[in-house]
Amino acid sequence: MRPFEKYPVCGWDLVEKKVETLLRGGAHTAVLKVRAEVCLRCGGRLYSQEMVWRFEEIKAKLKRQETAEFKPMGLSFEMVQSGRL
Ligand SMILES: [Zn+2]
Repeated sequence: MRPFEKYPVCGWDLVEKKVETLLRGGAHTAVLKVRAEVCLRCGGRLYSQEMVWRFEEIKAKLKRQETAEFKPMGLSFEMVQSGRL
């Protein structure tokens, strides 16, 4: 079931796409490949309600360091602020 035919923010058509999304919980980040409705104009994304609940679950797990079901994929880095940037 598609709750929206158009992206409510700008009113353009949505297409279903597989997208990558980053979830953060505490110091951890997980990458998920999920289905989303993507706006053809601005790239805005809509996720299903189930997906949003799943995201919340995953973020809570990351926060609690329950990372057993996630596969490590290398380190992520944060750029240290430097005067040259
Ligand atoms: Zn849009």
